[in-house]
Parts: sequence; structure tokens; C-alpha cells
Amino acid sequence: MKRFSQIPYPAARETADLFLGAAEGARARVDEYPLTDAAGTPLRGRNDEFLATHVTVLGNADARDTLWITTALHGCEGPAGSMLAAWLLNHREQIERTLGRDIRLVIAHNLNPWGVSHFTRFTAEGVDPNRNFRRRFPGSDRYCALSPDYRRLDPHLNPQELSLLTEVWHVGMMWAKSKFMTSKRIMRMIALGQRADKGKLLYVGREPTQTNQMIREIIRQRAHAAPGIDLHLDIHTGLGTRLTKTKEPLVLTIYPPGSSEQRLTQKLYGSVAEVATTKDGKWSGSDVGTIEQAFFAELPAGRTYLGACVELGTVSIMDAVTAVWRHQTVMRRPKRYSAWYADRSRRQMYNVFFPRNSAWRAEVVPALYRVIGQAVSGLHDRRSAFSGVGRPAYPRIS
Ligand SMILES: [Zn+2]
Repeated sequence: MKRFSQIPYPAARETADLFLGAAEGARARVDEYPLTDAAGTPLRGRNDEFLATHVTVLGNADARDTLWITTALHGCEGPAGSMLAAWLLNHREQIERTLGRDIRLVIAHNLNPWGVSHFTRFTAEGVDPNRNFRRRFPGSDRYCALSPDYRRLDPHLNPQELSLLTEVWHVGMMWAKSKFMTSKRIMRMIALGQRADKGKLLYVGREPTQTNQMIREIIRQRAHAAPGIDLHLDIHTGLGTRLTKTKEPLVLTIYPPGSSEQRLTQKLYGSVAEVATTKDGKWSGSDVGTIEQAFFAELPAGRTYLGACVELGTVSIMDAVTAVWRHQTVMRRPKRYSAWYADRSRRQMYNVFFPRNSAWRAEVVPALYRVIGQAVSGLHDRRSAFSGVGRPAYPRIS
């Protein structure tokens, strides 16, 4: 049997098989959350496969503190998270010894199984699920209107028609514009402009998606009521292809720079990862996710929560953006494009989010596990540092 890391372009079923196989081998109980549409009908994937999120718990079920690991909120970023989850299950005994009596590990695998199946960031509703937890769901194009720069970029970010020739034109225009602006400004602009409209790359949605509601249910069912700490790491690979030799991954937080939450995040993860907030650092413009807000809302009042998004790959933003819009354009009108063209667009997504590079794939689990190890030792050794950590008010949308 082929090792998962050697499958060039793993499909949704292969990520589910990897996780479920590892859980079975570890004799870990798995709870299944099938993905449905709003009417409750189960959704099927691209190859007509069953779609579900799976949750398992390692360690003492009654532990005071919880470390939550969530994967594939952006479906196309899921395979690395699947490798991590399987590795944790394969090393169950060792992991549980490390966790001790006071910490349990909750792993929620493939939060966005539709996105995993179609190898896209989006949910079946066309929503970026990592932007969907905001309390406000903006209508209209008010955010696009904020920036004339964005309006000029939009036709190249969201082309209505694609061919090999027009691709060259759009990529060239994006590249040319990137020469006149810093990548931070471009990312900021993209983030603002893309949230408001369906079909755009960061579309927030008009209401909570099925994925959003399922995640909240998972948190509600799994959360402990007694006081304790919930640490959360949401695994992504959305920042391009390079797993650098320097500090990686990147740990992104939604907390304001200088806040006690941000300082604690820096203290916990700063020795093994670069840490940045939405407001400072060179990656700020990407406007990291909002899944933390599901935890703010659903965890009982006595719980202390500190969440972060963990990103693998810290270059090639433009590669990532162009791969996403190309794939999205094809998915919007599948009949218009040949199977060859559709396959090509999907493979280019993999090349960004789960590159066919054995060195990259070999480094994924160790890089992520270093961050997890820091979370666990933080819970063991620095518990007093968590006092005063609060759940911030919902950040403003712009
Ligand atoms: Zn992501």
C-alpha cells in the first residue's frame, strides 16, 4: 500500500481513509458528523463520496485542559492536517504519556469535507468558511467600493472567462500590479475587496454555513463545563509552497498586537514558529480567520481560550491567489472547460497547497508537531501565564 505522503494528488476519500485507518489502529473512538445541506440532505463529494467530519479524543477524557486541533477548514489545505492527525493517532501511547492526566487532545478532522473533495477553500455554498464566523454578514459590494485599487485588480482576480491565453494576461497584470505595490498592500486590498461578494476569494457569506453550524455543534458537545484552558490550533497550508529552512510554520492570531493574548501566543510558540497578528507583521494583510469566534461563542464562561491559525508555506502568495481563482473560475462553470483543463487547474492547486515535493511533505508533521509540543508544555509548565487571558470582542470587519 502506498504511503499517503507519496500519493501525488490525494482525494477526499484518501484523507478520510488515512484518518479512520489510523484511528482504528489506535483503537480510538471516532464520532462522525455527516455534512448536509440546509434541508438536512447529506451532501456528496466530487466522486460521489460520502462527506463527513470526524472527531476523536486522545488522553484522559475528563482532563481539566483541552488542546483542540482542527484541520481542513480550507478544504484544499487539508492533506497536511490529515498527515498530522494520523501521526498523532499512530503515536497514541507516546502522545498520551506526554499529555498526562490534565490534558486531552480533541482532533476534528476535515472540518470542510466538501472543500477537501473539490480541493477548494470554499464550502458548497461558495463561502470561505474561515471568514464565516463573523457576526456581521455584509451584503452588496461596499467593501469593493472602499478601494479603487481593488476595483482595478478585481477583473484579474476574478476573471469571468479563462483560457491558456487569458491566463497569461491575468497573471501578467497581477504580476505587474504587484511590482507597484507592496505585497502587504495587495493582500490587504484583496482581503477587503474579496469578502463581500459571492464568488470572490474571501466571501464571508450572508449567514452561517452548514460547516459553521457543524463546527459549533462539535465544540458544544466536546467542551468541558468546569473551569480550565482550551488551546486551539487550526491547521492551514495557505501561504504558498515553500516550507522554509528558517522559522516555520507561521502562527497567526486574531488578537491585537501587544495584548496579553498576543504576548502569550508569542511566548508559547515564538521559539518554534514565526508569530504574527492580523494587525502587524508581513502577513497581516491576509486577514486571518475567524474560527476562533466559534469558540468564543460556544465555550462555557469558565473556560479560558487561546486560539491560533498555523500556516505552512510562507512565500508565493501570488501563486496561491492565481491557483485559487483559476480553479474557482473552472468550478463555477464546469461545462465550459475540458476535463484536461479542469485537471490542470486542480493539480495547480495541489502544487500550492500540498506540493508534490518529498522534502516538503516530510517536514510537515515535524513542523506542526513542534508547535503542538509547545502548546502541551505551555499547559504543563506555564499555566499561570494564562490568567488574565480573555475572549476579545469580535473584531471589526474592516
Ligand atoms: Zn487556510
